[in-house]
Amino acid sequence: MKTQSRRNFIKNGTLSISALGLLRQAALAQEVQKPIVLSTWRFGLQANAEAWKILSTGGQALDAVEQGVRLVELDPNERSVGYGGRPDRDGRVTLDACIMDHELNIGSVACLEHIKNPISVARAVMQKTPHVMLVGEGALTFALSQGFKKENLLTPESEKEWREWLKTSQYQPPVNIENHDTIGMIALDQAGNLSGACTTSGLAYKMHGRIGDSPIIGAGLYVDNEVGAATATGHGEEVIRIAGCHLVVELMRQGRAPEEACKEAVERVYKKQRKKIRDIQVGFLALNKEGIYGSFCLQKGFNYAVHNKDGNRLLNADYKVQ
Ligand code: ASP
Repeated sequence: MKTQSRRNFIKNGTLSISALGLLRQAALAQEVQKPIVLSTWRFGLQANAEAWKILSTGGQALDAVEQGVRLVELDPNERSVGYGGRPDRDGRVTLDACIMDHELNIGSVACLEHIKNPISVARAVMQKTPHVMLVGEGALTFALSQGFKKENLLTPESEKEWREWLKTSQYQPPVNIENHDTIGMIALDQAGNLSGACTTSGLAYKMHGRIGDSPIIGAGLYVDNEVGAATATGHGEEVIRIAGCHLVVELMRQGRAPEEACKEAVERVYKKQRKKIRDIQVGFLALNKEGIYGSFCLQKGFNYAVHNKDGNRLLNADYKVQ
């Protein structure tokens, strides 16, 4: 069909199937909300603001999530992530982190000591080794070989609290922000690519060597560039049990909206742990390829930060246990 006659054809109101398909695709492309970045908890606001500097100038989601969470890792006043994080029961600060990009590249470190930015070590594992995960001494040796500095991460405040805790040595992680919490961040960049990062000092006063969901790809974080991304916070053992973030992404693949997918994952934890449900928190945060986001948690109290072109704001997640 010549250009002129095609124009007439469209003008006459009888669009061909292929023309309709093209129009629909164009409309869908216009609707995608990008760039956008989401992070868990209140400290997500400052992390999002940092990530936004990269996303709003056309940068990659992978760089944005790394730089965003680094800020929280470096803040000694954030006592559940990175430097200044609460130690394990032996007084050792052990950090867990992972990162994932839009091409299924992954990198992770677990039980890493003495390094202020575990997320950047995770990225180095992803980009500079044939492996996807390094733990403990091996992770530290690798970090030092990459030029990371060995430092003391136990601040006087965290040490004082730990010594206080030793008097009773009662291990009972509370349900919300009191002595744990992770920064999980997921982002969609201008080019339409998704990435995610997740980093934590884990549950305070855990056994030495305990690893939570945060460095486990599929548990604390998962990204599939065809579908969406998800990250988690809360009692890591429960998130690992249901392969939480992989589950959320797979549910989105089956057509669930982000919040519905998060809710279904929370329901699985609820079913398993009904009897001690008041003692557990899990929260999921999800973003799909269209830039639509959602969240759901077990108990009231989980909030998350969203930054898109309309600004940066903190929202409360809906919850299961009333
Ligand atoms: N999920 C983290 C862990 O289990 C802690 C948290 O997010 O509260 O290590």
